[in-house]
Amino acid sequence: MAEEAIKLGREKKSIFIDKVKELIPDGGNLNLCLTCGACSSGCPATGLEGMDPRKFLRMAALGLDEEIVASNWPWMCTMCQRCVYVCPMKIDIPQLVFNARTLRPREERPKGILGSCDMALRNDSGSAMGTSPEDFDFVVGDVLEEYQESQPEFADMQAPIDKQGAEFFLNQNSREPVTEPDEMVPLWKILHLAGADWTYGSKGWGGENYCLFLADNESWEKLTRNTAGQASALGCTTYLNTE
Ligand code: SF4
Ligand code: SF4
Repeated sequence: MAEEAIKLGREKKSIFIDKVKELIPDGGNLNLCLTCGACSSGCPATGLEGMDPRKFLRMAALGLDEEIVASNWPWMCTMCQRCVYVCPMKIDIPQLVFNARTLRPREERPKGILGSCDMALRNDSGSAMGTSPEDFDFVVGDVLEEYQESQPEFADMQAPIDKQGAEFFLNQNSREPVTEPDEMVPLWKILHLAGADWTYGSKGWGGENYCLFLADNESWEKLTRNTAGQASALGCTTYLNTE
């Protein structure tokens, strides 16, 4: 079935794109599009909801703000930056998409992302699954013991939490300790074999930041400060982001 054409009025209706231009360096080059289509060809979200990055940028340039707010496509962008990488004019489409998300009231944003952000804000771990620092400590210790016993070559392997002065502060996908705890081990093994001095933090170990994807800047900052604060309190010098 053919898609319904968007009808343009005589006047440019709104100024969403102009506001975004004011927010980012060099206006994100948002008015330099050559319509070459390189961005769309490599975008993993091209074709979803009948949209692609070039079309989205064009809609914004034409002032179709209502259609942008109504579209679910901005929530399908992964923020992977491929479009910027291939664009001959280095147009910052992800920033346009990010700011399009802020046009919706928070409570009307996608429930999955909203729920995960809110959950992470409710516990010191920053875990999107709601795992407390105590439960994380228990699971890590339990899994470590199992591998130390069953694989003698890793009998000395450690998975420290809150190790003062460790060089690397490692974060962790929230889902793994709950649903697939064995998935944490390969990275422990790599760090062990590399002789790395690392630690998890009891606070802020949750690696995802769904509040970023929710375009909730205040909550995004709160989670980031929680993690950075713990890494700093432990004296770690390098943050290892696994997410
Ligand atoms: S950042 Fe978004 S728009 Fe750009 S290529 Fe990735 S998914 Fe597509
Ligand atoms: S790659 Fe850049 S110049 Fe080409 S269509 Fe996409 S945004 Fe426009």
